[in-house]
Amino acid sequence: MGERQSAATVSPRDPRALAKAIEVTTSSWRAERRAARVRRRATLLHWLEDSLFGYRMPPAARLISEAEWRRDSVDVFCWRCGATRAPFEDLQRGCAECRERRLSPRGLTFHGVVRLGRYAPPLSQWVPAIKQRAWREMGIILGRELGHQVAEAIASGRIARPDAVVPVPVHWTRRLLRGIDHTSTLADEVARVIGVPMAQPLRARLAGRQTGASRDSRVGNRGRFLLRGAALPDDCEEVLVVDDVRTTGGTSLDAIRALRGLGVKGASVAVCAVADPPRRSAAGFGRPSGAGGAFGKRENVDSF
Ligand SMILES: [Zn+2]
Repeated sequence: MGERQSAATVSPRDPRALAKAIEVTTSSWRAERRAARVRRRATLLHWLEDSLFGYRMPPAARLISEAEWRRDSVDVFCWRCGATRAPFEDLQRGCAECRERRLSPRGLTFHGVVRLGRYAPPLSQWVPAIKQRAWREMGIILGRELGHQVAEAIASGRIARPDAVVPVPVHWTRRLLRGIDHTSTLADEVARVIGVPMAQPLRARLAGRQTGASRDSRVGNRGRFLLRGAALPDDCEEVLVVDDVRTTGGTSLDAIRALRGLGVKGASVAVCAVADPPRRSAAGFGRPSGAGGAFGKRENVDSF
């Protein structure tokens, strides 16, 4: 009798009703599974669009004009390290930050650094997004701007005219994962503007991540680049090394050191943004006044 009662509580007495209940449960379970599959596919597509193709990034040219961004005039930063110049600072032998520091390997003439601006909004939002969001359009526009900045620096005798433009190499796995070779994108445009070939004689060893690494760990991260056999143009003595962001200068120093093995005698560096040393950035030298949001109304790249 106890058995009958418990059967009655868990299932209807009518076998047809029981079958019906099972069918409803099964079909709702199937529907849920189908919905989950659709959701997963949508997420994957969204991720592909976001990370590989950069389709979801806003139009770069419009953002730049809305932010009223302009590249720095060459007298607002140190010719030697690219840091923002303090008011009335004498830069003849470099700024107070770099005067005592070795910025290039021995036996090589270092002409200095050309930058678009300091690593602060909007550049600190646009430049990392080129590699993190495969934002090719922004890479091309900023690369072109950097090319014009370099052309001005050459015309004014600030740096030597290079025989080749060399991007800081990115490890192939990162290139593949990001869907963009951001330094080559920039270097390609620089080379085009100044009418000099781009060359890629270096390859990167897979080292620790740079993004988010502390200044100290970056300084210690040496010997990251190897020669890969592809040559520089004949009689190439002067190179321009192109990178996206400069922090300590360790990356470009490593690249120049590796290039010295190819008979390079002089080097300059061109970067989109220079992160000022902590002292200088805290003082707020060269901070723009009343700059709008880097992405229009929205402040953060992650909101896209
Ligand atoms: Zn300096």
